[in-house]
This record gives sequence, C-alpha cells and structure tokens, in this order.
Amino acid sequence: MISLKKQAMFNKAHYVVFCVVFLCGLATSLAMYLDERSHIGEQQKALGDKFANKLSGVLQQYTSELNSVAALIESNTGDVSPRHFVGFVKSLVSNQDIQFFFAQYVPAKMKSTFESKLRARLGDTSFSIYPQGDRQEYMPLSLIYPNEIPYGFDILSTQYQDLVSVQQVRNSLMWTASKPLATPFLQTTQNAPANTIILSAPIYLPLESRSNKPTDNIVFYGVVGAYFNIENLLKQVTSSLKENVVFRIADVSADNPVWFADSAKKTLWDKGYDTHYLSLANRKWRVDSRFDSSLWTQVHLFPALSVLFSFFLLACFLTFYTNKLLLRYRSALDAASKYIEVDELTGLLSRYYVQHKLSELLVYCQEENKKLATFVLDLDHFKTINEAFGHELGDKLIVEVSRRLSNVLPKNAVIGYLGGDAFLILIVQDDLKECEPLDCLAQSIIQKISEGYYVEGLTLNIGCSIGGAVYPEFGPDATTLIKYADMALYHAKTSGRSTYRFYDVEMGGRFERNVRIERRLRKALQTTGLALHFQPKVDLISERCVGMEALLRWEDEELGVVSPAEFIPIAEQTGVILPLGDWVFEQAFRHLVEWQEQGITVPPVAINCSAAQLKRADFFPNLLSLLDKYKVDPCLLEIEVTESILIEDAESCAELLRQISRLGVKLAIDDFGTGYSSLSYLKDLPFHYVKIDQVFIRDITEDKKHAALTHAIISLGHNLNLKVIAEGISNVDQLIMLQEFGCDIGQGYLFSKALGASSMGSDPMIVALNEKEGFD
Ligand code: C2E
Ligand code: MG
Ligand code: MG
Repeated sequence: MISLKKQAMFNKAHYVVFCVVFLCGLATSLAMYLDERSHIGEQQKALGDKFANKLSGVLQQYTSELNSVAALIESNTGDVSPRHFVGFVKSLVSNQDIQFFFAQYVPAKMKSTFESKLRARLGDTSFSIYPQGDRQEYMPLSLIYPNEIPYGFDILSTQYQDLVSVQQVRNSLMWTASKPLATPFLQTTQNAPANTIILSAPIYLPLESRSNKPTDNIVFYGVVGAYFNIENLLKQVTSSLKENVVFRIADVSADNPVWFADSAKKTLWDKGYDTHYLSLANRKWRVDSRFDSSLWTQVHLFPALSVLFSFFLLACFLTFYTNKLLLRYRSALDAASKYIEVDELTGLLSRYYVQHKLSELLVYCQEENKKLATFVLDLDHFKTINEAFGHELGDKLIVEVSRRLSNVLPKNAVIGYLGGDAFLILIVQDDLKECEPLDCLAQSIIQKISEGYYVEGLTLNIGCSIGGAVYPEFGPDATTLIKYADMALYHAKTSGRSTYRFYDVEMGGRFERNVRIERRLRKALQTTGLALHFQPKVDLISERCVGMEALLRWEDEELGVVSPAEFIPIAEQTGVILPLGDWVFEQAFRHLVEWQEQGITVPPVAINCSAAQLKRADFFPNLLSLLDKYKVDPCLLEIEVTESILIEDAESCAELLRQISRLGVKLAIDDFGTGYSSLSYLKDLPFHYVKIDQVFIRDITEDKKHAALTHAIISLGHNLNLKVIAEGISNVDQLIMLQEFGCDIGQGYLFSKALGASSMGSDPMIVALNEKEGFD
C-alpha cells in the first residue's frame, strides 16, 4: 500500500515538474544574461582603454609640439622674432586648440631694455609689461600664438593664477603640467570652472650664447609653454571614437583628487565603470569611463527572455501532461488497490488485504494494549456441494455465506475471504460485547452459518469449523497468528467438524510433536524402525483363525514406540502416507511369500488403506504389479478402508473398489458406525466385510444403546450378505454377547495382539490352523 506521505508527494508531482523545468529555464536565462553582461563589460573596458589611449596620444602630441617650440627658442638662442615664432607654430600645429607662448625672464633692472626691445619688434610704442607696478623680476609673455592674449602679461604678477606652478616650472628640468585651471591670463571670477591645463618647461641658455645678454648673470631664460582647453581636448578625443563614451577625469597628483571633467551626471558614477591612470608631465590623471548608458540597458535581454519564456511554456506543457498522467495513474491505482483490497466474488476484503489489515491491527493492539481474536472459518464438506451442484452454485453459496457472516459478526469485525471455502475474521477485544466471550461468539457464528441457504431454488445446508488464535497470548505477528488459527482449525476439523478450537500451548506442543513425528517418519522409511505386525481374526463359531490384519508398528530412536493411532493421521495430513502405504503393501507381500516359502499356511492378510492411497491414479496398476511380482494369490489379500473415504470421494472410489474386488481381493469397511454411515455404500459397493468400530464393542456389555447398535449393524450386514467383524474384543463377556448377536468374526486382545511376522510359525492359532490344514 502506498503511504499517505508518498500519496501526497504524488499529488504534487506536477507542481514539482513545473518548478524544476521553470527553474532550469531561469538558470539558463540567468547564465545567458550574465554571459552577455560580462561580454558588454569587456566591450566597455575596451572602449575605456581606447578613450584613455586617445587622450594620452593627444597629450603626447601636444608635448612633442611643445618640445619643437622649446627647441626653436633654444636653437635661436632666444632671439626669435614674434613673426618667426608665429610662422613656426603655424606650420607645426594642425589645430588652433593649443596656445603656445614664451615668457621671458626679466629682472627689474632689465625691464626698460626689454620693453624698448619689444616695442621695436612689435612696432607698438605703447607696449609695456603689465600689470603695472614695480617688482624685482618679471616674466612677461614675449612670444604668443595664436594671438589671443596680449603680449607683455607678466606671469609673475599676482594676477596670474598659478604663480606656484611658475615657481615649480622654473625649478624643474622637464615638462610640468599645471593642475586644471580657470582660463589663464584673463581676470577670473571666483568659482570659474577649471578648464585649462598649462604645459610648461624652463629654458636655460648659456650666457655667452645669448644675443641679448642679461644683466643678472643667470642662465634661466624663461618659460616656454602651451595651454589648452580641456573641453577642446576631450572633444578632439571623443570625436575620433565611434562609440559614445561617458567619462570623468581627475587630477590625482595631490591627496585630494581634483575632478575637472565629467561628461555624465554624478549619479551615474556609483558603479559599473572602468578606471585608467595617465601620467602627464609630473601629474597623474585618473580617467573613469563607461558606456553612456548602464550595462543593464546595454544587455540584450531578448534572447534570455525568449529562452525563459520557452521554458515557461515547456513547464506548463509538462505540468499539464504530468497532471494528466497522474490522474490516469491515480485512477488506475485506485482500481488496482480496490481490486487488491476487495475480493471480487464476495465483496469482502481480499486474502492479501485482510492479512495486511491484520498486521495493522496488531500494531494498533500493541499500542493500545488490546486483545485481537483471529478466526479462520472453513466450511465443512464444501467440496461435496461443488461436486454435486457445480462450481457456479458453489460460488453463489460462498457469496451467501459471506453476506451472512457480515450480518452475524460485530460491526467492527474485519472479514476477509481467503479463497476456497475459508474466511479470516479479525475482532479487536473492544469490539466484542462483554457478555460474549470468544467461545460463545465462535459457537454462535457456527450456529448461524449452519442454518440453511436458499440458492437457485435449492435449500442447501453447510456447516463450518472455526480455529482461533488470540493476540497477544498466542502469536506475536500476523503470520504466526494465522498459522496458529489454522492449526486450531485443523483440530476442530479432526474433532468432528462443526465446532471450534482455540490455539493454546498444549496444541502448540502437539503441533511440535507432530512436526517431529513427520520428520522422523520420513527418516524411518529410509532406514529401519518400522515393522508390520499381524493380528488374527477369529471365526466366532468355529474359533478358527480366518484372517490377519496387518498393523504398522514403529519404534523410533528418539521418540520411542509411537502408536499408529498417532502417526497415521499425521502421515495422512503430510502426505507421508503415500510412501508409507507403498512400504506396507511391499512388506505384506514379502511376508506372505516368506511364509509360503517356510511352508506356513496363513489366512488372508488385511491391509489398511488410507483415502489418499486410494485416490492415487496408480493405485490399481501398482497393486497389479505387486501381485505379479510376488506371485501372490489375490484371495490372500484383503483391503480395509474407512467410511471417510467413501464420504469424501464415493463416486471415483466405487469404480476402483469394484476393480479390486473383481481381482478376488476382499474388501472390508473399517471402523463402521463412527462416520456418516450411509447405508447405500453397503448396498452398492462390493464389500465383503463390515468391521464394527471398537468403540461400540468396548462397552457393549454395559451400554445398552451400543449393544443395540451393534446388534442392528450385525443384522443389517447379514441382510446385505456381508460378514460382520467385531474389533477390539478384549473379554469373554463381549465375545459371548457378540456370539449371541450372531457376529461372524472377532478381533481383539482376547484372542491375540498383533504379532511380529517371525512369530507366525509359533503362534498357536496359526499352528492350529496349519494342523487342521487349511482355513475358510
Ligand atoms: P484399525 O484398522 O481399526 O486397527 C485396529 C486397531 O485396534 C489396532 O490399533 C489394534 O492394535 C487395535 N486393537 C485390536 N484389538 C484390540 C483390543 O482388544 N483392544 C484395544 N484397545 N485395541 C485393539 P493400532 O495398531 O494402534 O492401529 C490403529 C489404527 O491405525 C488402525 O485402526 C488403522 O486405522 C491404522 N493403521 C495401522 N496400521 C496401518 C497401516 O498399515 N496403514 C494404514 N493406512 N493405517 C494403519
Ligand atoms: Mg483396520
Ligand atoms: Mg478399525
């Protein structure tokens, strides 16, 4: 059976399928998105590299142009005319974005010489160094191109914004870039945006080489420089890039970075950008770059989303399909479990399920500390109904019995059909009425089930037997309980049927002994321990021995002497009776031949035959082959069968008995009077003898009823031309009474016990028989 947990899992299987497939889709889409994103990240980084390289390239170009300008001044020993300068720079640079200048160092004492020289050169008589004022030294612009600012502006004056850098330039040996400044050389307003960079280097000329000799004997000649607009610079860089790039640039030479360019809103710079560092004439720039939109918007979401959508559709389809399959599976499972749980014929629980239920109830009773009664109910002689009226009617009767059982039993009783004519009934202690102990319940079930049934116009009567086992006293588990109940049922059946038995310790002990007997009996057949003894039968008038009954004797090494009354029923139940019967026949023939060889005349020997032996298809052929093998006259053989075989299988037996009788083998009906004596057997079947059961003989002198019955059987036998044998005659009174009743033959301890085969020669009865030469 499927547990509830597993069932719940089954019910949700389609959701699981949806989640699994959809999650797979989600994972695939995410992987695609991340791959695309990292690809775009790489593209952004490549664009940043390109931007930084371009920027660096343009700055290097500026530096090299400036180098050329510095070389011009140095090579002309400082004597470069403005016109020459302009011409040179014009030919050098391709665009007007960069302004070149030269500011000559002028100590105070050279101021007027310088001014007069410049007036002449520029043709400007009003030229003078400005801003006005007396200072110790000046550094006025003396060469400029493009000519946007006036000559003569003193970059050592306080109006010049970046005096500090001028000092730095003078002291350095290489190009120095200023930090970003507001436009130089012009009056600046406070908070004017920094948009200019000045690149400058000092020019030192040896004194002797100068055309205009300075008066201060110093070699510092001035500062050559260029300044450019950052915006123009960046325009130049970005115009050469195909893709749109967003950037910001900071001068990070000092501790605090000075941001001087930002092409995007500040909010965009939270994350997702690349950083480069550039070195420019003693300064360090940090360049951050990124695409003009966030990576998220750059990523092409369509492929990832379409994959996700496809997976979603697949998940929906599979969910729908799985659900459909599950529904079918569940209905098939329901049908199957119904089929497994309920017996089709009776509507009761099936054999399998009732046993499963028993296991469940055992757990419940264990937990709740309750008792559980297990009944196995078996109909008596149901086979006869089947054979007489056919299986179809037999099935209908079973259905009727099932219905009645359901009505008779307490409501909470669990009833299962075990197949054939057997039922399993489970009753938890609480379900029993207090006044109704188990044996009363069993008795009332038997009584009610045994009431007549009306099936297809017929009134049928059938009895039943019940075997019970109670948990926890007997049987800790389902298998043992059923085994014990079966055992008890067997006892009920062997106790005459239509009754009940409960398993108890004694029964268990008996069962164990039976198992042991069976095992040892099988062994005895292979080895020794078995013997055939012979009990004489005596003619009650002539008192001569007229026959002998072969009776099995067994002395086992472990069990000691075991009576046939004990081991024969076990052999019959277990099937050992078949090889055992063969052994008896073989031995009986062997002894007959031995006695003949020894010259001992013996009367006919009667062999007891069980039902199972007679039912064998090869019984008659075996008998023929034994007769042939030992060359024994069939007249020396008698066969005793009990009534029970006739009740169970009268029809098929009748033909066999006729065949045996035709051979000349005489037949006796044994233990007559104990079974369901149907007098028709005596009339129709070829019996020669009727053996009255010793139960009647035992107290024939005390019990008038038994005496009357015995008398009646004797008269009946005679009327049917049968000889009557009384068995178990153990005293003279019994003998006299039987003689008075006219009984023909007697057998019992009064005459002789069963004797071993070897004592035949010395047995007085046999000796007497041999002396009188012959027997009837
Ligand atoms: P049975 O065929 O009715 O045999 C007669 C039984 O009565 C024998 O018991 C015998 O020893 C016993 N008996 C004879 N005279 C007296 C008497 O005066 N008083 C008392 N109390 N008992 C007497 P045994 O040998 O124990 O056999 C019991 C049963 O076992 C037999 O009953 C027979 O049904 C069966 N049996 C014995 N040998 C064989 C055999 O070889 N094959 C088969 N199938 N059954 C056998
Ligand atoms: Mg007998
Ligand atoms: Mg008998």
